Amino acid sequence: MESNILMERSESRILHTYNRYKVVLDHGEGVYLYDIEGKKYLDFAAGIAVQALGYGNEEYNNALKNQIDKLLHTSNLYYNQPIAEAAEKLCAVSGLERAFFTNSGAEAIEGALKSAKKYAYEKDGCTDHEIIAMEHSFHGRTLGALSVTGNAHYREPFEPLPGIVKFAEFNNLESVKALVNKKTCAIIMETVQGEGGIYPAEKEFLAGVKKICEENDILLILDEIQCGMGRTGAMFAWQNYGIQPDIMTCAKALGCGVPVGAFVMTQKVADGSLKPGDHGTTYGGNPFVGAAVSKVFDIFEEKNLVEHVKEISVYLEEQLDKLVEEYNFVTARRGMGLMQGLELTIPVGEVSAKALEYGLIVITAGSNVLRFVPPLVIEKEHVDEMIEKLKKVFCEFK
Ligand SMILES: *Cc1c(COP(=O)(O)O)cnc(C)c1O
Repeated sequence: MESNILMERSESRILHTYNRYKVVLDHGEGVYLYDIEGKKYLDFAAGIAVQALGYGNEEYNNALKNQIDKLLHTSNLYYNQPIAEAAEKLCAVSGLERAFFTNSGAEAIEGALKSAKKYAYEKDGCTDHEIIAMEHSFHGRTLGALSVTGNAHYREPFEPLPGIVKFAEFNNLESVKALVNKKTCAIIMETVQGEGGIYPAEKEFLAGVKKICEENDILLILDEIQCGMGRTGAMFAWQNYGIQPDIMTCAKALGCGVPVGAFVMTQKVADGSLKPGDHGTTYGGNPFVGAAVSKVFDIFEEKNLVEHVKEISVYLEEQLDKLVEEYNFVTARRGMGLMQGLELTIPVGEVSAKALEYGLIVITAGSNVLRFVPPLVIEKEHVDEMIEKLKKVFCEFK
């Protein structure tokens, strides 16, 4: 009852841009969420790959509480200690050299695109550079991020979008080569496509794109907003490939619940791109988010979370593969680490809605993929519980 009233109140005043699941979430503990009526849910979505540490991590919560009492915000006109530490840790784990903190993933993409454009402008003084992006990609909803998002349905109502963007087929090197010319300033892609349906880049493809970039002084921008922060069994997914981007974007699990993103680059790109006055943000990188990011990296290290993901994801993959064998409407599994997708021939939206009834939170990706992006702290018992609940859901579709 209480839920219904709250949902109605929300719908009457919040702009209707989401068709939400019919649940009002209230609090979380570990890898479980509870709605306002006290019903318990096993969470295999983590607020869309954000809550890497799950819920109620005491060390993380205390770091935030302490920072609230000290100082929330200063603006970027002054220095602050938490964000300096966060930047050092982000650079240390990525091997990249300069970070700019944003308030969201889309803003990190905007910054990465601006950096690439400025880098090319500094070289030849022209402003007619082109960007190559991938079909079925997702980079966010702001106009710049939308311009490189390979989903016509998201883009069309808002065209013309800024910049000259050409779309190549993901994992098809020839299709990228065909678009490269003297005006190409950047190639942008997700290392593992998320919203598009959980498609990891193939090794030869990413290596080939990297080579094209090196040979032509084109910047490789890797979007690690969803696949980064340990999710694939490496701190950043590209670290599984033995290459390095010129610029990467982070958000989602970077702050584990606090709105923060970043674009991070090599010293070479930093030296040749954004200068004082070229970019800015009022909130971005304030002491509060700095304290969160800094503590997130500490906890990742203490808990050896990346190693944990490597181990537990083998088990998750095995269990998901069994579903592919067992159910004729489960046609494929794809993914890396704790970023997994099951391709279904039954309506995925109905499956994820039904799962809620059984106390399981899973989300969808693309039009036919059930997406699993749980907190990185899950254990085998949680995988077993998820599979058990999912089987009950599948039963209703037999
Ligand atoms: C979520 C996401 C974004 C956008 O991030 P927001 O914080 O929603 O702006 C960009 N790229 C990828 C790969 C994402 O998954």
